[in-house]
Amino acid sequence: MRVEQLGEGEPELAVVGAIHGDEPCGSHAVTKILDEQPAVERPVKFVVANERALERGVRYTDADLNRVFPGDPDSEDYERRLAHDLMQELRGCTTLSIHSTQSYDRPFAIVNDADPLIESVCPYLSIDAVVEAGGFTEGRLIEYADVVEVEAGEQGSDSAKEYAEVLVREFLGATGALPGRERHTDELPVYRLERLIPKRPAKSYDVRVANFERVAPGATFATAGDDELVAQEPFYPVLMSSYGYENEFGYAAELTRTLG
Ligand SMILES: [Zn+2]
Repeated sequence: MRVEQLGEGEPELAVVGAIHGDEPCGSHAVTKILDEQPAVERPVKFVVANERALERGVRYTDADLNRVFPGDPDSEDYERRLAHDLMQELRGCTTLSIHSTQSYDRPFAIVNDADPLIESVCPYLSIDAVVEAGGFTEGRLIEYADVVEVEAGEQGSDSAKEYAEVLVREFLGATGALPGRERHTDELPVYRLERLIPKRPAKSYDVRVANFERVAPGATFATAGDDELVAQEPFYPVLMSSYGYENEFGYAAELTRTLG
C-alpha cells in the first residue's frame, strides 16, 4: 500500500485508488495529483491500496478487498490484512474511493443510505447519479469509513482515468482542500439498491436495458443463454452488465428522490 500526504498536519481527508487492482483509474489520478503537488489548504492523505493486485492487473489476489472490511491483521489472506491496515489509515478521514465498472461509462457515486456526504460532497462532483447502497454494505468500505465511492467510468478506459482525475479535484474542492467549490448539477437523482439480480449459469449473457433508466413491467431486461428475464415490477437497473459480476447481472434500484 502506497500512502502519501499533501499539506502539513494530521489529514482529515483522504483519496483512495486501487481498492481493486484491475481498475487502474484511481491509482492514475492519485499519481497525477501527487506529481503536481498542488498547494492544498487542508492536509490530504493519498492511498494506492492494492498495489499487489494492481501490478498483476487482477481485481484481487486472495480475497476481494471491498468485501472483507474491516479486515484481520492475522489473516493468511493478503487483502484481509490490507483491509485492516487501510482502516487504520482512513480513521478520522472523509474519504473519496475511486472505482470503475463495466456497467456504465460515466461517473456516479455510491454512498450509505442518508449519509450527510450525499448533500455535502455529491452535488459538487461531475456525476450522473447517487446510489444509496441499501442493505448491500457487508464487508465493503462504505460500512466502516466516512466515504463516497465513485465509479469513474468504464473499467480500463482512458476516459475513466480522466474522470477520476476530475473527481479527485472536485472532491478536494468540495471539502475545502482546493479552491473552487462549485455545484455541478441542478438535478441529481438518488437511487437506492433494493435487490440483486441473479445470473444463472449459461453460455452467454446479454443485458438489454440501460442503467438508471426505468424498466417497465413485462420488459425483457436480460438474457442468459436462451432464457429471457422479464421484469415483474418496474425497477431501475444499477451496476448492471452482462459480464461484470460472476453470479449476478447487477442490482434493481428504486429512484428515491432528486437533489435540487
Ligand atoms: Zn472496484
